Amino acid sequence: MRVRQTPVLLLLMTCLLPARAEWHHREAAIMGTRIAVELWADDPATGERAVDAVLAEMRRVDALMSHYKPESQLSQINLRAAEEPVKVDAELAQLIVRAGRLSEMTGGAFDITYASVGHLYDYRAHTRPTDEQVAAGLGAIDWRHVVVDPEASTVRFSRQGVRIDLGGIAKGYAVDRAIALVGEMGIRHASVTAGGDSRIVGDRFGRPWIVGIRHPDDPGRVIARIPMVDASISTSGDYERYFDEGGERYHHIIDPKTGKSAGELRSVTIIGPDATTTDGLSTSVFVMGPERGLELVERLGNVDAVIVRRDGKVLYSSGLEAP
Ligand code: AMP
Ligand code: MG
Repeated sequence: MRVRQTPVLLLLMTCLLPARAEWHHREAAIMGTRIAVELWADDPATGERAVDAVLAEMRRVDALMSHYKPESQLSQINLRAAEEPVKVDAELAQLIVRAGRLSEMTGGAFDITYASVGHLYDYRAHTRPTDEQVAAGLGAIDWRHVVVDPEASTVRFSRQGVRIDLGGIAKGYAVDRAIALVGEMGIRHASVTAGGDSRIVGDRFGRPWIVGIRHPDDPGRVIARIPMVDASISTSGDYERYFDEGGERYHHIIDPKTGKSAGELRSVTIIGPDATTTDGLSTSVFVMGPERGLELVERLGNVDAVIVRRDGKVLYSSGLEAP
């Protein structure tokens, strides 16, 4: 009798035991970059649902804000906003308003209309605008050319030739959105990464998550390890999208004042409360350079920075200690 009963008993016990809590991990290529999700869930079904929700949210934000996709609302703005106000989702209008506030805060170092000239660079094809083309496009770079009506949820440009691109802030925004979603699903330990932008919720096995900052010339070498709990981190680097020509590096972070790649730094990492903030600020500080950039970081108070200068020297804001 006992021999026959044991398997039944075991089966019963397995059914009655709570489902296994475990880590869920997945990577995907979305928004032209590597997305990585890692989270802890009390049961496997919730964990998988949460990971699916993160990836779906990344795809949704990309479909709305990508400048590569002609059907995105952002592309519709670029196509028509010089002629008429273009109706968009409130969420997109709000992110454009937020980008404008960052432009004010950074003295125009962050400016989504950089794309008025920026679209003439093709880093894959190694092509760039001539000095004449840059000069002709510079007048269209000014965030004040972008007029948002929050009530009507419309965007228009006050002149011809303006283009916008949210590449400096949209990944961080998507990460924040994804983190909000998994929070609503009851997830208390998670890391969501989109390219150089990550947000961390809770700890990992009772310890901080460790995020490495890579060496600008060697993806295998780490220049600093940052312990993180409930925080965001973004890195902007001249090694992400670029080509070298005649000893010059032409890369994707453009100084709105010149229409050319910002030249003083190799990378900027910002640590702060949310990923929209850290994403926007890492791009901004890269353009501002070490002095003005660090000054802004110190003034804001709720963020920290690790800056790699062109000569290789690493600078830390006062909230961090040099190793
Ligand atoms: P990130 O890697 O977050 O620094 O973002 C770099 C991206 O930001 C570029 O690929 C452009 O899409 C965009 N971008 C470049 N220069 C600027 C700028 N001065 N202000 C705002 N966005 C920019
Ligand atoms: Mg950024």
